[in-house]
Amino acid sequence: MAVLPIVLVSDHNDVLTTKAIRVPRVDDEIRRLMDDMVETMFEANGVGLAAPQVGVSLRVIVLRVDNQIYQLANPEMVRTDGDQTGFEGCLSVPGWVGEVTRRMRVVAKGLNRHGKEVRVKGDGLLARAVQHELDHLDGILFTSRVNEGTLREVEPAEEAEEPGVVSAV
Ligand code: ZN
Repeated sequence: MAVLPIVLVSDHNDVLTTKAIRVPRVDDEIRRLMDDMVETMFEANGVGLAAPQVGVSLRVIVLRVDNQIYQLANPEMVRTDGDQTGFEGCLSVPGWVGEVTRRMRVVAKGLNRHGKEVRVKGDGLLARAVQHELDHLDGILFTSRVNEGTLREVEPAEEAEEPGVVSAV
């Protein structure tokens, strides 16, 4: 496994604003990408990462919530319910947070590392992270979803320590 460089908005790389393409087949190459993304997410102390954030325009996401790791190819939303509003940030937009209203509960489906269809069901942080990563696959950054007037700059240390701020996605 390898830690990959995370693409930042300041890199002006179109990969962050391009709709990623579906994975045709979950093969060894995709499994290696998934594993490298997990290692990169751990290194960045993140709760989620989408392939475009490591410069790969494929529909692959990884998540780490409550000590559970999820690796999904071609994830899709199956069901959503309720709303939650909270501060959010992004590993590709370091130093900025903003309030984003997301669905409270989600059920998503996708292919696991063996190419088998699985469902991920969650609420709160997991639901927020799934929606944030799915947005990345469509080239959408959280900065275009923030509630008006709530986007603000934070010190990196503050960002990491501020309670209730999900910045590492
Ligand atoms: Zn992000």
